[in-house]
Amino acid sequence: MIATSTKIHNFSAGPGILPIDVLKQASEACINFDNMGLSLLEISHRSKNFIAVMDEARQLVKDLFEVGDDYEVMYLGGGASMQFAMVPYNLLTQNGTAAYLNTGVWASKAIKEAKILGNVNVVASSEDKKFTYIPKGYEIPKDADYFHCTSNNTIYGTQMKAFPKSPVPMVCDMSSDLFSRKVNAKDFSLIYAGAQKNMGPAGSTMIMVKKDILGKSGRKMLSMLDYNVHIKGESMFNTPPVFPVYVSMLTLRWLKQNGGVEWIEKINQAKADALYNEIDRNSCFVGTVAKEDRSFMNVCFLPTKPEYEAEFDKLAKTYNLSGIKGHRDVGGYRASLYNALPLESVNALVEAMKEFESKFA
Ligand SMILES: *Cc1c(COP(=O)(O)O)cnc(C)c1O
Repeated sequence: MIATSTKIHNFSAGPGILPIDVLKQASEACINFDNMGLSLLEISHRSKNFIAVMDEARQLVKDLFEVGDDYEVMYLGGGASMQFAMVPYNLLTQNGTAAYLNTGVWASKAIKEAKILGNVNVVASSEDKKFTYIPKGYEIPKDADYFHCTSNNTIYGTQMKAFPKSPVPMVCDMSSDLFSRKVNAKDFSLIYAGAQKNMGPAGSTMIMVKKDILGKSGRKMLSMLDYNVHIKGESMFNTPPVFPVYVSMLTLRWLKQNGGVEWIEKINQAKADALYNEIDRNSCFVGTVAKEDRSFMNVCFLPTKPEYEAEFDKLAKTYNLSGIKGHRDVGGYRASLYNALPLESVNALVEAMKEFESKFA
């Protein structure tokens, strides 16, 4: 079972909920890390105790993704947004073209950065319907330098249920569904994720890359933007974000010890099923996206009458539901069901929706 810190049900889209055991260990480490009598925050990142943290944090990603030593893992600052720039900077060649799938705000931002550095071919987009579905049946050109997609669209609540067979290295922004479900990691040449959605606090980004795609950009590389520099430095080319890396390590350790991605996928499926079933059943709410593309992580729904919103907000407070307000681009509600959110929190939301219908429908 996943315990919560308080009786508040935290559906925040990001930074998102973390396991309470992780938060407790992280708090203790701020005072007395590894029984050193020192805070994690006041020791050298090159101390053997912190090097052990970084090594474990990197190894856990490979373990959970079940990949071998042809992949490298880094933890860097700058957020997932920095990867919008670093990906084309490292992978896009002078006369080459990068293929992008446009499924929302984050994908669009990635495209914008890539266009500054070279040629971009947007192979498909769901902008025509306000990003409420995932495009399918598009073709990825065989001569592209790489193909970039976003596995889960945090703002709109859509998720890629399948990935294309890409003839070129596939790059994926997995910020908001990393380790929430099984994916075949070996199909990807680069995966990145900002930690603050599903693996830790804000401040570090995990990047896993297949070594053989690097070093081909033909660019004169700035050190801080060069993956090879960070790989060589074992994510310590400069001072790494020590606390976010530590908490991410604890969260991944928590996941692995409890049964890994297979374990959490079942729980995530149960949470998503419970909430979507209620959205479809309840006459006061309606889902916002194509059913086959519904995200198991970010569930977006609208009240069927605008005047319901103020009343449901009031009721939600009495159920201790926190962070369910929808993104400003979509409105209504967004419940984020990240790994650390227990099923009981979803049940509380479902109960509130039922009570609402019985009072107001
Ligand atoms: C939140 C988010 C980002 C941006 O992350 P930052 O760490 O704030 O840069 C990028 N992609 C996706 C899918 C996100 O959910």
